[in-house]
Amino acid sequence: MTDDESPIRIAVIGSGPAGFYAAGHLLKDAAGRFEVDMLERLPTPWGLVRSGVAPDHPKIKSVTRIYEKTATHPRFRYFGNVTFGEHVSREDLLERYHAIVYATGSPADRPLGIPGEDLPGSHAATEFVGWYNGHPDHTDLELDLLSARRAVVIGNGNVALDVARMLVLDPSELAPTDTADHALEVLAASRVDEVVVVGRRGPAQAAFTNPELLELGELADADVIVDADELERALTVADPDAEADVTARRNVEILRGYAAKEPSGARKRIVLRFLLSPVAFLPDEHGRLGAVELVRNELVPGPSGGLRAQATDERETITAGLAFRAIGYRGIPLPDVPFDERGAVISNEGGRVTDPDTGARLAGEYVVGWIKRGPSGVIGTNKKDAQETVNAMLADLSSHAASNGGPPAHADGGPSAAKAAAHVPGDPDPASVEQLLRARQPDLVTYSGWEAIDRHERSLGESAGRPRVKLTRIDELLRVAADE
Ligand code: NAP
Repeated sequence: MTDDESPIRIAVIGSGPAGFYAAGHLLKDAAGRFEVDMLERLPTPWGLVRSGVAPDHPKIKSVTRIYEKTATHPRFRYFGNVTFGEHVSREDLLERYHAIVYATGSPADRPLGIPGEDLPGSHAATEFVGWYNGHPDHTDLELDLLSARRAVVIGNGNVALDVARMLVLDPSELAPTDTADHALEVLAASRVDEVVVVGRRGPAQAAFTNPELLELGELADADVIVDADELERALTVADPDAEADVTARRNVEILRGYAAKEPSGARKRIVLRFLLSPVAFLPDEHGRLGAVELVRNELVPGPSGGLRAQATDERETITAGLAFRAIGYRGIPLPDVPFDERGAVISNEGGRVTDPDTGARLAGEYVVGWIKRGPSGVIGTNKKDAQETVNAMLADLSSHAASNGGPPAHADGGPSAAKAAAHVPGDPDPASVEQLLRARQPDLVTYSGWEAIDRHERSLGESAGRPRVKLTRIDELLRVAADE
């Protein structure tokens, strides 16, 4: 990439965990060769740690301390409020950086593709999660928690559990959190007292992790209801994968514990149901969601191992004025960047961006996190994932250096690989890119701008014993950032 001792300049697009782990790995390079600029669409950093992790999980959010260390590194710069494809193009960045690392995550929801999905009262979990976490895109979500007593959550992953828990948490449990103020108010007045979480497969195939399933049993004012007969029926088909999986085995134990427990008479309930798929969302007399029609499934061997859900003739209708589909997130394409529509990821091989038609590598373009591998794993998974990509970049660099008479190439390198991997920017001057960004986005937010927002939010939270009070509108965030 570089032929001399000048720094190797990297642009990371997106400031969530994957982007920060990639930046952190690069800045740890012993030779100190890298300079990292991070571009973020929002004024605020941390991606899903700020806008995805549930507010009652503050310990998980403390991971930002690691990212803060990276952010204050002298060879790191943060440019917030910059939208890739709008304020700056792929071409602009290739002209100014030796490499781009895409770390834009999976911001969209996956639709179910069934009738009635768009009825008022039916929501994507992504928008609900963004709303209670103060994501500026979702501040104005209209959520009616007064008309409905029952909500149905579709999906058996951790997002489904977050949604269910947030709907039944007692105001006293929400009060000390950083839940957005607009959501605190609506959730405190909520009349929802039953949340039915529906899995299309059985308890042994659920994607929940153990601590998340266990904490349902610790809620202040909600019982967890599991029907023992339904649970055991769903466990009759042997699943060698689940039997070999410690998490799945423990999930089944926890669920059996819930099934055996007498309800305490709490005001609210989370009901966990299995082997059911929604087939239609049905309107009430006002044209809002009134019920969810479901088909009962049986488990049959899947085409690539494991068990899949197969519909039977049996149907069931659950009256519900609210529904949340929590069936996974989905990546969206970035302007001019190759995209694999089927996987909803940026086409890549181990983090090296590839042309989806020819499979050829694109020099100087890399990808990390959910937009690389799809929306799976916990925050820490992104550390290893980013390391794989950074290792690929280091190998490409080493190959290129070798082909130019430098030290020996990496084992999978060689002159032709090096040629494919090499990208030499025309204008790698750090001042030039900042100038360009400031010209295109006068409301650029630097890291000190974010620090001003952070201080402001924390000070607002202090008197109420909350970690922070989030600013949820772009204009407010920009005003505070500009005051620094
Ligand atoms: P997920 O773990 O992939 O779960 C998606 C669920 O949706 C699965 O139960 C899946 O069932 C179901 N599903 C998919 N398509 C469906 C359909 N058409 N109809 C009915 N059900 C369908 O996704 P997630 O819950 O969005 O979580 C994303 C990632 O973030 C996960 O790795 C998760 O662990 C992580 N996360 C972690 C935490 C935490 O650590 N506290 C919190 C939130 C999220 P099948 O298995 O049958 O496909």
